[in-house]
Amino acid sequence: MGKQALTPKELLAELQEATRRYPPERSRPQSPHLDRLLEFEESLGRDRAKIEQDMERWYEENRDWGEELFREVIKNLPEEGKDLFDDSNFFAVGTLDKVEVNAQAIKAGNGGWLILLNIGLFTFLYKVARALATRFVAVDKNGERPYGDASIAFEETCRLVAEVFTWYAGAGIPFGSDFPIHPAQLTIANLLATYAEQFVICHELAHHVMGHVTGGTEKNILIANVPVQTSNWNWEQEFEADEGGLRFLLWKGDVLGGNDTVMRYTGADFFLQVMSLYEELTNFPGSETHPPSVERLNRLRRFAASLCHDEDSKAALFQRAHVVEQMLQVVRQTLFAPTQEQSRHLEEKSQRLVQRLENLLDKYTGGMTPDYMSFYVNAFQLLEEGPTDILANTISTLMETYRQHLETLTNRESTHDDWITFQKLKLLLGFVEKLPAEVQAIIFR
Ligand SMILES: [Zn+2]
Repeated sequence: MGKQALTPKELLAELQEATRRYPPERSRPQSPHLDRLLEFEESLGRDRAKIEQDMERWYEENRDWGEELFREVIKNLPEEGKDLFDDSNFFAVGTLDKVEVNAQAIKAGNGGWLILLNIGLFTFLYKVARALATRFVAVDKNGERPYGDASIAFEETCRLVAEVFTWYAGAGIPFGSDFPIHPAQLTIANLLATYAEQFVICHELAHHVMGHVTGGTEKNILIANVPVQTSNWNWEQEFEADEGGLRFLLWKGDVLGGNDTVMRYTGADFFLQVMSLYEELTNFPGSETHPPSVERLNRLRRFAASLCHDEDSKAALFQRAHVVEQMLQVVRQTLFAPTQEQSRHLEEKSQRLVQRLENLLDKYTGGMTPDYMSFYVNAFQLLEEGPTDILANTISTLMETYRQHLETLTNRESTHDDWITFQKLKLLLGFVEKLPAEVQAIIFR
């Protein structure tokens, strides 16, 4: 079959091959919190063994998260909308292993359409949701707090969220330290990120249902050197697709969804809030084809308000989105104009971190060989606590200092001190080798 006639699925396979960063067995995520999460599920009366089996099957079948989201979304579409997306020769959704926070619609050779979602989009939304969720406190109907209070201090939450943004804006990659979180909060974070992602898909589907597809201007672009054709829509069409997309997300068939309507709305609102803050941080003013997210958010809220029958239901719909907004407001301020207290908090945290790294280096050197294993285990823990960027910079500085010190060896006798310095450098080099490529990029920048 000629390349011109590729179906969306075939084009997806070609693009996935071209963008793959790691062999499949390496891209399998391993959450350090999985055990706690499973224990929690068990405490709710769920079958732990079955959950584990399901997860195993998920990996064995090599399932595509973008496609899973799409299947979920079309379940709720009205019948006439569903038809459009039923034929996989005409329409497909899939995930690319690319770190950019992005989704796009492209045209396949046979005239069909392919919606591409980058892994970076999922990671970024999830990391922000996960950091925000450390502030969520569940209160049951008796006013008890079965999960305790928010797990960490407010400044620390803001620091964690700010870190996710800083990494992304500074290095173009979704990264950020890992941190303890209650399983119930993890569940909320999952839900928030999942609905945000579903909203992105709903938005793309809306372009199709609303007939934008035939009216766009076509443009040729390259994805990992594979030439593809994409369609550009105007701002008004983007706003329309947000409104149509929100309908798809909130409605089940033709009625407003059940109990989770508020959470679904919060996901869509959260997505545009996060993108607005990101655009602020990277000075993105909007382009010919992409309206600024803050404008999209304003429009979406007006539309959502128009769906509510009265003030009470409006207040209920926006309640959680407003909580997210208040938190992101503090994050914004942390990023752009930190208060003295926030700066002091970050500085103290950083100094402690640097000190602890130096202590580890002292502790695990001096023997016949450095104690690699103990150092790695403890250094990984430090990295997870963050701030990751400060630790990465410290490692980079220390390695340079050690190297310079060792260079002076060519014109003098070596001392015990040189030997220790050499061991420390070896520890750091070995550690850096084990870090994700994203962090290595910062260290070797
Ligand atoms: Zn769009």
